[in-house]
Formats: sequence, structure tokens, C-alpha cells
Amino acid sequence: MKSPIIVALDYATEAEALSLVNKLDPQLCRVKVGKELFTACGPSIVSQLNDLGFEVFLDLKFHDIPNTVAQACRAAAALGVWMLNVHASGGRAMLAAARREIDRCEGTKPLLIGVTVLTSLSDSDFSELGVTRNIESQVLHLAGLCREEGLDGVVCSSREAPSLRQNIGEDFCLVTPGIRPEWASSDDQSRIVAPKQALENGSSYLVIGRPITAQENPLTALNKIIDELARD
Ligand code: C5P
Repeated sequence: MKSPIIVALDYATEAEALSLVNKLDPQLCRVKVGKELFTACGPSIVSQLNDLGFEVFLDLKFHDIPNTVAQACRAAAALGVWMLNVHASGGRAMLAAARREIDRCEGTKPLLIGVTVLTSLSDSDFSELGVTRNIESQVLHLAGLCREEGLDGVVCSSREAPSLRQNIGEDFCLVTPGIRPEWASSDDQSRIVAPKQALENGSSYLVIGRPITAQENPLTALNKIIDELARD
């Protein structure tokens, strides 16, 4: 069975991204293509990854008027991505339009995920933006909106997973970055959670970059994390 790990391909070139994935096994993990790699390489990177057998999370965080986001979702689905995301703060009509358009797609539909609050934002950024809720209640509020509009899940911190599970339920994907095994450097992440703890918190998928990609042997690192997840 495939692990819940999504390896973040945070690279500037196709050559670097392909060199990394050639060391991985598509039976063991999925991969994430973000704004840097997609902007540098274009849609062909998604087809190349699919051809190598990898399921792709296209992390472009669409945020625009409903029609534009819906058409972007359609275009992403046509690339054959497994998961894509939109900003929940784009509003109910935008989320509904994205859902409708994905539902219209033929064949296997990608999972549609909402970004709640970027983890780079603090409570003081929030008050500067004029948002009166604190971050945690805003995350819960936006996740509820995503749920109501039929999205398949949200991106959040695994630290928020227990309260999201309690409030939103079990059949909702929680996609969580900021994951660090004990043996890996924390890099620039501050609110980190260990892989096993993240699953116990209720995460569905673990987005992991450097603890795998920056290792001399990425497949060994991936297998080490998978073993840790399986341990009692
Ligand atoms: O290397 P690392 O494991 O820190 O990579 C995590 C990935 O998850 C990166 O692609 C980063 O952009 C993404 N991410 C994150 N925190 C968020 C949302 C996305 O680290 N809140």
C-alpha cells in the first residue's frame, strides 16, 4: 500500500526534479509540484512525473474570481493531477465553482483541497489585515466552509488536525506540511511535528521535502520514515 507521504519537489529545474524522482519509488510515495517548479518547467513536468508512475499534487493555490479559478481547476485536472488546491479565502462562490468544474471533468477527478491560513502568517499579521478572529478559529471557520462546499479536504498544520477532526469529521483529507523526523534538521520550519505523531493527530497526508530530498540517499530516507510510521 502506498504511504501517506507526499515528497515536495522544491526545485528550480526539471533536471533537478527528475534526478530526485529517479531515486524514489512511485509505489511508495506521491510528489508535490509547487509554483517554482511549475513556473519554470510548465505542464510538461506533470506529464513526465505521471509517465514515471507518480501521482502529482499540483500545489498552485489558486485564488481569483470564481470563473477564473474554475477554469484553472479544469486545466489542472486535464493534466492528470491527483490533487490540487485553491485558497479557501477566495470565498464560498469560488469554492463552489471549483467543485462544480472538477465534478464536470471526465475520468478520475483530482482531490480538491482548500488552503486555510498560510502557516507563515501570525496573529499580528491577521490584525494588520483586519481579520478579527484568531488564526485557529479562522482555520476552523475556513475548513468548515470548504467542507460545506464539498471540497475533499484542507492543507493545515498537523497541530490543528485534532481540533479539525473533532469539528469537521473523519472523512476529510488533512494535508500537512511541517513534518520532521527526529533525525532530520528542522531547517526553516518552526512548528514541526514528527511523522508518526502527525498520523496520530489525524493527518491524512504528510508533505515532506528536505528530510527526504536533501539526503544523500532519498529512497533510504523515505523508507526510514515509512518504517517509523509502521512501528507501534
Ligand atoms: O522541506 P520541507 O519539508 O520543509 O518542505 C515542505 C513543503 O511544504 C514545501 O514545499 C513548503 O512550501 C510546503 N508548505 C509548508 N508550510 C505550509 C504550506 C506549504 O512548508 N504551511
